[in-house]
Amino acid sequence: MRVIVIGGGMFGASTAYQLARSGVQVTIIDHVHPGKATLAGAGIVCPWATRIEDPEWYDMYAAGGRFYGELIADLTAAGEDSLGYRKVGALVTSTDANELQAAGERIARRTRNAPEAGDVQLLTAAQAQAKFPVLRDGLEAYFIPGGARVDARLLSAAMVRAAVALGAEYINDYVTLDIADGRVRCRDGNGQIMVADEVVVAAGAWASQILEPLGIAHPVKPQKGQIVHLRLAGVATALWPVLLPMTSHYMLTFDDSRVVVGATREDDSGFDYRVTAAGQAEILEAGMAIAPGLVNAEIIETRIGFRPAGPTTKPIFGRVPGVEGLSVGNGLGAGGISIGPYAGKLLSDIIRGETPELPVSAYAPQRH
Ligand SMILES: Cc1cc2nc3c(=O)[nH]c(=O)nc-3n(C[C@H](O)[C@H](O)[C@H](O)COP(=O)(O)OP(=O)(O)OC[C@H]3O[C@@H](n4cnc5c(N)ncnc54)[C@H](O)[C@@H]3O)c2cc1C
Repeated sequence: MRVIVIGGGMFGASTAYQLARSGVQVTIIDHVHPGKATLAGAGIVCPWATRIEDPEWYDMYAAGGRFYGELIADLTAAGEDSLGYRKVGALVTSTDANELQAAGERIARRTRNAPEAGDVQLLTAAQAQAKFPVLRDGLEAYFIPGGARVDARLLSAAMVRAAVALGAEYINDYVTLDIADGRVRCRDGNGQIMVADEVVVAAGAWASQILEPLGIAHPVKPQKGQIVHLRLAGVATALWPVLLPMTSHYMLTFDDSRVVVGATREDDSGFDYRVTAAGQAEILEAGMAIAPGLVNAEIIETRIGFRPAGPTTKPIFGRVPGVEGLSVGNGLGAGGISIGPYAGKLLSDIIRGETPELPVSAYAPQRH
């Protein structure tokens, strides 16, 4: 079987890697548009704290978090040692006591049957500050030891490399689709037909552009996110937990004294690849309100990503009815670093004719 995967972000890289592991001949084609979501994503993997209650989405989110253990082990066994993944734990806090209590109840309910979350503890304000030194005074927090952060740039590159080591081909190109006798056809940047049994569109926020010539109204739109990277020179931030203050903003750290503060959620900005004054102000204000110890941090960069946002939070993946040889994997939205690797595995099962281990009808393209 020969499969073309369009898009080398979290969804495409994972689908390609899982297909290659099963002996499928894969070609990954990625244009790497400015604003590719996987290059900007924060990298929080901590499903148990979310306020979203949609059970079909949450099942996928939680399974995605759980799957990380297996994925990291597999890639490590394949010789990949630059994955950017670390279980640093997560601090869930709030300035509102009722909100914190509600968060505690939610986390307890969700982690009851999730040993990978570890033993959740309520920390005093001083204990929370000891774990995240720039945190403001007086905030109790729940600590979830299984919370993790991952550098999605490194992880997606590792999945692509591992796929290539298994025989896949990686091409940097912009492809288009058309249809002949009811079957999808993929053309490279020169208009040449690329032969495949199956074409997988994992093209993120750009998928509707590539599907439109097939007469498919794909319901995924870009949701712009601006995310600020700060440096606390001389401070060892590598082991700080992810900080989730139960707003749409959050913080996480990386090894190079880096503190990442995210992120805007802009539904009406289209593909506007600019750092804006309002975006910058929103993030820095939210960040310093919860972590005043950041006031002297250096701004290193602001990244921009276009989250592939569907009509609901649920991802959309599977075979597209009515067009032979066409599958999609998309709609990862704001949780795609957590969900993408697992959703890619499920999609690879569907493409190979295997029964996925999780019921997938809720995510099928025909639902849209
Ligand atoms: C600021 C921000 C913070 C985030 N934080 C988190 C987080 O903490 N945790 C979490 O779980 N998720 C997070 N996310 C969400 C996550 O990053 C995305 O859901 C995920 O990366 C989407 O992956 P994707 O593969 O679907 O799309 P993308 O990564 O956008 O990849 C799609 C690729 O397809 C390519 N492509 C499109 N059209 C074509 C074509 N015609 N030919 C060839 N290639 C094409 C594009 O160039 C692109 O490279 C965040 C996102 C943003 C923006």
